[in-house]
Amino acid sequence: MTALEQLADVLFPTITKTPEEYEALYPARNLKEGARVVRIAPSPTGYLHLGVLFTATINYLTARATDGVFYFRLEDTDKKREVDGGAADILAGLRQYGLQIDEGYQGDDAPIGNYGPYRQSDRAEIYQAYVKALVLQGLAYPCFCTPDELSAVREQQDSQKLRTGYYGAYATCRSLTSEQAIEKVRAGLPYVMRLRSPGDESHRIKFDDMIKGTIEIPENDQDIVLLKSDGIPTYHFAHAIDDHLMRTTHVIRGDEWIASVPTHLQLFRVLGFKPPKYAHVSPIMKEEDGNKRKLSKRKDPEAAVHFYTEQGYPPESVMEYLHTVANSDYEDWRRANPDKPRSAFPFNLKKMSVSGALFDLNKLNDVSKNIIATMTTDEVTDAVIAWAAEYAPAWHTLLTRDIAFTKGLFSIDRGGPKPRKDLAKWSDVPAYAEYFFQAPTEYPWPEHLSADDIRTILTAYLPVYDPAQDKQTWFETIKGLCPAIGFCPEVKEYKKQPDAYKGHAGDVSTVIRIAVTGRRNTPDLCGIMSLLGKDVVAELLNAALQAL
Ligand code: GLU
Repeated sequence: MTALEQLADVLFPTITKTPEEYEALYPARNLKEGARVVRIAPSPTGYLHLGVLFTATINYLTARATDGVFYFRLEDTDKKREVDGGAADILAGLRQYGLQIDEGYQGDDAPIGNYGPYRQSDRAEIYQAYVKALVLQGLAYPCFCTPDELSAVREQQDSQKLRTGYYGAYATCRSLTSEQAIEKVRAGLPYVMRLRSPGDESHRIKFDDMIKGTIEIPENDQDIVLLKSDGIPTYHFAHAIDDHLMRTTHVIRGDEWIASVPTHLQLFRVLGFKPPKYAHVSPIMKEEDGNKRKLSKRKDPEAAVHFYTEQGYPPESVMEYLHTVANSDYEDWRRANPDKPRSAFPFNLKKMSVSGALFDLNKLNDVSKNIIATMTTDEVTDAVIAWAAEYAPAWHTLLTRDIAFTKGLFSIDRGGPKPRKDLAKWSDVPAYAEYFFQAPTEYPWPEHLSADDIRTILTAYLPVYDPAQDKQTWFETIKGLCPAIGFCPEVKEYKKQPDAYKGHAGDVSTVIRIAVTGRRNTPDLCGIMSLLGKDVVAELLNAALQAL
């Protein structure tokens, strides 16, 4: 047995599988030419945030556009930062937003796919087998430096204005002989496993990022940690092993990882793996005081995906909006193809913003108004009730008291060629629908009419109101009232001789509108009144008269 073989056995006595065996267990995928295998690989260190949802969307679109595979890997190697329920929240969020995975970790449900386990904490043996193989080749070694020793080296480097880290002459455990290392392991000293980096900092490496273009960075010469002292890998090492064995073709991830690409490419080379293609997604930005900054998990409530659920944005709206953020030509495409499903859009990584697209809540609201305007009455009613059950219990009671009435209110002005766009989110419903459930407390009467004019209108209208009338006869009735009370039935006529009248038929209907709803602007008033019914309308008109 060689010294390296002895060291490998002392370090990994229970590891018997070889890389070759894993290669055979996870063979190349049989996919059509050009199919991309991509993944979302979140760490359960918090709840789902917009950045992860966005990156997941980009991966999902890439897989769908190429008939590829979109899989989910849980990167749970940092147990200290793990948040209870984080993984479940991320999975539920992806499901809620329709990002169906083809393969991967599924929480309490059995994982899908043949390339698992898809949770890194279940893969310790795999990582260790590869490190064992690297030890045998002299490409990995145990490092016994204590945290104090490492910080002393760092201080020394800092004080001499040198690059910090574990490299070259500073990589002291590099030069331990196998015998020395074995002795220390046997003595029970804690250790990490490090890469013996073959890199040279004075060399530069070049790679083509599919979003950012060609990038040049110095080669890695740091003897990075592969396995921590508990045998659990670092992100870097796990990335190389997992993305290779899961046969990932494209790594699409946040651009905070660009600086690590030289390390990653080196790992792929040392391990004898073909590297994936990289595409680094710029973070979603926010404009504040005229400056662009990253959307912040700490400062911006809209960075949390829960925000959209609480506010009651339909997932459809958020997804539609994220598409406009992903590819700037999406909006033009949508205008030209209003009825096509989003999946028909030719998504392309190359069309993504290099510097980071701006997130704009007003724009999301506009997108969402369009989406809600095209939803059916039943869809809106169901979604609003589900939202209210969770976030507005008093409204839930009101809306479920009489479902036919609730559907009636959401059906007003819905379904026509020019639907109104009043609602951007379900939390707009209470303000929108208030007058369906309670009498106005204020009446913003038109300034140019006197209390007497208003009284005249309401008194004249009360006896002629008939809830059975359709929109046209309803308005004809209002026009019919006009001559007797000094108003002009036709706006055009009125404009010719404004001094001859108190106002026109539009003013009369405005007064009725304000009496019934307390607002100057509402959806179709005839529809509102017929839903409220004759008795309620009469009560409301009388209440308005009383309040004059
Ligand atoms: N766990 C890493 C993160 O959450 C994944 C990065 C990647 O996609 O490779 O940032």
